[in-house]
Amino acid sequence: MEVQWLLVCHGLVTLLVVVSFLCGQWPIFDGTFIQRIHVFLTSGAYDYLRRLIASTFGHKGNEALLSFELYCCDRPNPILQLIYAAILGITYYIIVQTTFHYIPGYYLGEVHRYTSLLAVSVGVLLFLLTSFSDPGTVKAENVSQYLSAYPYDNIIFSEKECTTCKIRKPARSKHCSICGRCVARFDHHCAWMNNCIGERNTRYFMAFLFWHFLLCVYGTVAIALVLAGQLKEQQVIRILTAYYGIENSFGTLAPYVVQWLMGSYDTQVLVVIFLAIISMLLAGFLAYHSKLCLTNTTTNESFKWDDYVRWQRKANGAKASAVALKASADGVGHETKQHVSKWKKALCCRSHCLEEIEVVKTNVYDKGFFQNSLEIIIPLSTRKSFHTNNKSKSG
Ligand SMILES: [Zn+2]
Ligand SMILES: [Zn+2]
Repeated sequence: MEVQWLLVCHGLVTLLVVVSFLCGQWPIFDGTFIQRIHVFLTSGAYDYLRRLIASTFGHKGNEALLSFELYCCDRPNPILQLIYAAILGITYYIIVQTTFHYIPGYYLGEVHRYTSLLAVSVGVLLFLLTSFSDPGTVKAENVSQYLSAYPYDNIIFSEKECTTCKIRKPARSKHCSICGRCVARFDHHCAWMNNCIGERNTRYFMAFLFWHFLLCVYGTVAIALVLAGQLKEQQVIRILTAYYGIENSFGTLAPYVVQWLMGSYDTQVLVVIFLAIISMLLAGFLAYHSKLCLTNTTTNESFKWDDYVRWQRKANGAKASAVALKASADGVGHETKQHVSKWKKALCCRSHCLEEIEVVKTNVYDKGFFQNSLEIIIPLSTRKSFHTNNKSKSG
């Protein structure tokens, strides 16, 4: 029974840390211990480390930490790429060493020895493609083709020049301060890839996310089937029920089966839990980016839209208050007896105005599900017909 409780605690703590890290800043967690864990994980722990280094090594230690922080967060570096390679390599090595000798098993054919290697190789290939492909770097010699790809919407993108690159900024582009270049249809700078995600490599990035999600699900299911095969081949259920007299029902047998699995196959069980957690995280990330791609928005634009909506709401609120104040001032001047009802009218007018001037997000780049998906697969700036049409139009 102790092993099961250990497993339950391990699962709960992992879930708490993951939820706190990813969602702790949400307003519903304000003032809760989840928010406190989030603050500790995102900045508190690092502050403690800084203070510890400063008190132990003095000024020089602090400076070394700051330059390390600058290198890790503000400069292109392969640290997370190496961590990805290490995680993938070590996990696959552990699976080969501990699980491959059970393949073929009762539920899993020999072919999975080879398909697993193929699946991992495709994952690595997609990682390399995303990491080392051009995201759509805007330079003086190619700026015209990016300028013709998207029009300025004059809401979140208007015509201007990049102050660093000294070239016109195409609509939807952004200057990446880490890479020091302007990138077309900029999504975000991905530290795991040590590359920007832009117009030309969003397709590889999406394929990477989708494939790694499938890879983790495949690993979870395959190892679970190996363990199920071992249960079947070693007749564990029969032994538990016949020899030990344990009642043959799921509720009664499950703790004993978990105990047996943890005793005999602890590595495989931990790898299954690890892969299941990673696949859930990847599913969330994939869903978020799929929604952005299908509505032809980028991560950068979603932040810009948030700022725009917040700013517009403030402006609308100010307008409504001014109208309401004017209405109440007029009312007070004419009928002093109905004082309370005038304020009521003013408040109603304010809420009515707010309803009327609701902020509308007009995404001119959203051309429907099919066109949006096609733009990810074949970027506009790479299409031959697109350039020919633009040339003939301008000619
Ligand atoms: Zn630039
Ligand atoms: Zn970048």
